[in-house]
Amino acid sequence: MFTLDQFPLPFAPDALAPYMSADTVGYHYGRHMATYIDNLNKLITGTKYEHLPLADIIIQSVVDGRGQKIFNNAAQVFNHAFFFQCLRPGATGDIPMRVADAFGGAAQFKSDFKEAALAVFGSGWTWLVRDGGKLRLVNTSNADTPMVHGIQPLLTLDVWEHAYYLDYQNRRAEYIDAFLNHMINWDWVGQNL
Ligand code: MN
Repeated sequence: MFTLDQFPLPFAPDALAPYMSADTVGYHYGRHMATYIDNLNKLITGTKYEHLPLADIIIQSVVDGRGQKIFNNAAQVFNHAFFFQCLRPGATGDIPMRVADAFGGAAQFKSDFKEAALAVFGSGWTWLVRDGGKLRLVNTSNADTPMVHGIQPLLTLDVWEHAYYLDYQNRRAEYIDAFLNHMINWDWVGQNL
């Protein structure tokens, strides 16, 4: 069984304001993520998944014809836990050289990331990943997650509407800018690199 306490928020709920409000963090972490955990616990009880680590549940359920709901909830638990680690208060817009160099400069990285995140149609995620030896950006839809494609996530932005609607309504571009310039925990990205 999984609990929200296993995935503690690495900042106070109001610490990202005004770029992400305490309301948004409260609903997103305390309601949306908690619901994915509750659903996952219900779905795996009494199944072969019940005692597996989260990553194993994700990897095994994605190829299980009857595992779609388990995959969706397990992957969303992982995606959200990863996402909240990607955020920190007081971030600057500085892009680490290793990332900037891979995209032809810091401004180009931001421009490419923003373009990718704006292009997510419906619900999904924009990721900076390591694919082989290369850094690149990928989008995933709904609960889809890089690990099932053999690529390593380094950074992600949740672009489901629930991630930004309370603060930005339909203005996804402003949310992406706020993320790129004020909220990225590059120490976390560095740990993944
Ligand atoms: Mn979300």
